[in-house]
Amino acid sequence: MRLHGKIALLTGAGSGIGRTTAERFAIEGAAVIVNDIDEAKGRDTVKAIQAAGGEALFLHADVTDADSVRSMVEKAIAAYGVIDILFNNAGISGVGAIHEIEPEDWDRVVRVNLRGVFLPSKYVLPYMMERRSGNIIHMSSCIAEMGLARRASYSATKGAVLSLAKSMQVDYAKYNIRVNAVLPGTIMTPFVEQYLKSSYEDPEAAIAAIKLRQLGGQLGKPEDVASAVLFLASDESSFMMGSPLYIDGGVVFG
Ligand code: NAD
Repeated sequence: MRLHGKIALLTGAGSGIGRTTAERFAIEGAAVIVNDIDEAKGRDTVKAIQAAGGEALFLHADVTDADSVRSMVEKAIAAYGVIDILFNNAGISGVGAIHEIEPEDWDRVVRVNLRGVFLPSKYVLPYMMERRSGNIIHMSSCIAEMGLARRASYSATKGAVLSLAKSMQVDYAKYNIRVNAVLPGTIMTPFVEQYLKSSYEDPEAAIAAIKLRQLGGQLGKPEDVASAVLFLASDESSFMMGSPLYIDGGVVFG
């Protein structure tokens, strides 16, 4: 088991990539703390992990709210004593070119996608620093490395998250804490379904166009990202520090 005995906290693990990664971590021997703002979905992930014989605990928090995140981290420490792995996964979509985006919509995307990475990191890091051990993985996106039409707010936040991983790595390497980022391409999840429905009159045609951008001609699966996150979370990647890991079907460099 690649995460035997580890304690992992995953934000936004009630759905999509976060849920699949939580299930994978549990299979690999981690005790998994499942966070989500959506209690029903988070509890459902926990049920699925427990039904498969894994160890999991649901902790509700809104990753944009400092008190909520601090309380979640304190509860996680009370339950398990340590947090070995933090996967900052929670995120939302943002659609529109700059002139089309309302200021409050811009702020909402920045709050969830950037503040929502800052806060869990801020409150988990002191425990990792004290033990001089920790592993943090940020959810960026291949959009951090390429221009895509009408994704200004989303792209700005995912670029910032990648920069944050590098900056944090420099600050915390001396505490034996690694900070890396995953950059998925288009992965079929409720998040993408919602984005396609709200942005295109013909979502099926949009999917066909997105597939054309992939060198392999297919969209990714949550399992593809979960495997990459598992690699970063395990000691197999111990020489990776501040690195971007692409899981994008070749879309960035194709
Ligand atoms: P998803 O919508 O299926 O899951 C996201 C989860 O985050 C949901 O369960 C949601 O309730 C939760 N969440 C949202 N706001 C939250 C908050 N304030 N506090 C706590 N939880 C919150 O989406 P997904 O496709 O699995 O995406 C997960 C992450 O992967 C996101 O950061 C997304 O930007 C990123 N990503 C997705 C893709 C893709 O193609 N699906 C590609 C690149 C990056």
